[in-house]
Amino acid sequence: MLSLRQHEGVTTTEHRLDYGPLVDEMRAGFASGLTRPIEWRRSQLRQIQRLLAEGEEELLAALATDLGKPTLEGWAADIGLVSAEIGYLHDHLDKWMRPEKVRVPMIAQPGKATIVPEPLGVALVVAPWNYPVQLAVLPMAAAIAAGNAVVAKPSELAPTVSAALARLVPRYLDQRAVAVVEGAVPETTALLAQRWDHIFYTGNGRVGRVVMAAAAEHLTPVTLELGGKSPVIVDRDANLTVAARRIAWGKFANAGQTCVAPDYALVHEAVADQLLDELTRAVNRFYGGDPRHSPDYGRIVNGSHFRRLSGLIDGGGFERLVFGGDRDEAARYIAPTVLSGVASDAPVMGEEIFGPILAVRTVPDMDAAMAEVNAGDKPLALYAFTESKRTAERIVAGTSSGGVCVNGTVLHLGVPGLPFGGVGESGMGAYHGRTGFDTFSHRKAVLTRPARPDLPVPYPPYRRWKGRVMRRFL
Ligand code: NAD
Repeated sequence: MLSLRQHEGVTTTEHRLDYGPLVDEMRAGFASGLTRPIEWRRSQLRQIQRLLAEGEEELLAALATDLGKPTLEGWAADIGLVSAEIGYLHDHLDKWMRPEKVRVPMIAQPGKATIVPEPLGVALVVAPWNYPVQLAVLPMAAAIAAGNAVVAKPSELAPTVSAALARLVPRYLDQRAVAVVEGAVPETTALLAQRWDHIFYTGNGRVGRVVMAAAAEHLTPVTLELGGKSPVIVDRDANLTVAARRIAWGKFANAGQTCVAPDYALVHEAVADQLLDELTRAVNRFYGGDPRHSPDYGRIVNGSHFRRLSGLIDGGGFERLVFGGDRDEAARYIAPTVLSGVASDAPVMGEEIFGPILAVRTVPDMDAAMAEVNAGDKPLALYAFTESKRTAERIVAGTSSGGVCVNGTVLHLGVPGLPFGGVGESGMGAYHGRTGFDTFSHRKAVLTRPARPDLPVPYPPYRRWKGRVMRRFL
């Protein structure tokens, strides 16, 4: 039988991919206890920061090759934010690792009750292509911070970044407990066939279901970081100049290929025209008259996404192409595009856009906006632009989404104290900061009792007085 060694401990044959040896290796690393001490966790986190600092040039070039990512965008989202979050994990670890004392009721007295976080074991991270460094490395860092061994599978749709991570990770991190496997659907399928202690998947809901079904086989817990149509609600009292700038930035960074990018806008009818004017101005200022020549504007990841997005524009169902619409398949370029008067059954409203097209619909009031949001799947992010604190609170309370940013877009995910994750169709579970540590930990309940005194109350024979004591003190 033909065989080829791709990674230490992985045997690849022409017909069969078997990651059993790799998982065994990681499991042995975990079982040896090497991942548990805080010193190991911290040194690995610092090593990731070193990898990002020393590999910065290579990673930024890979991001430019795969996604045409402008240097500053690549640095901010895939290097700077990641390094900052890892610094936060590093600095808070000792506090999070400490057992947490809880109150002990009479029945268990005398005793001391604590929650002891323990690592789960060997985790699998499956990452997508749109922020290919961040979405592979941050979950890895959370898994390591919680004391796990971890295998990451970057996306095959960002192949240059995937190759860079596969080369850099073994160079900087402890190969006994951290590995990167490259590959596409067959490799991911083979990885999912293994028994893991946690699977952390970022990507679309269709594959999310595949991941969850595979995890069910071994009763493995999953985190699913999915997407969906994240709405922007703009009330009549919003600062429209700032709203337009922040919406355009969140929408057109990475050419709209951001899980929390504003997908469509629900704008109060009294200010819709003014907002469209402001959006036009903002995009002009960002990218100039012809964004194709702007060094600050990205490209679509591949031909099939290009054609899908073209189809959403060509599918119509809107009154006006406010700006954009220019395309060049060879260059995978689609101009920042805004469509207004979009019908609820337009193709662009039928799926997550995940590209540089903003669909704008008008609403008579905020109740109508909330009703429309609530009629659809629960989104990953929701954005509300208003100068009224009451309106903002009403929108936060009256809708359900993974997260909310009031008078802003995207940046809530840069706050390490906030959990990042979806709800319903936009996912389950969360990470970032303490939440990431908890995601990859088991919060073990530990009650410790001294041998003396050993009160007779709970033991048979069950005398009446014991019942009275219990009713009083339980
Ligand atoms: P993708 O195509 O890169 O897929 C993600 C991963 O799934 C890859 O590693 C891929 O190998 C694997 N995969 C694909 N098909 C598979 C199959 N049939 N079986 C097993 N594994 C398979 O990325 P994508 O899904 O196109 O990413 C875009 C989606 O991800 C959007 O919906 C976006 O909103 C969402 N997203 C969510 C977040 C978040 O943090 N919540 C972040 C980024 C993207």
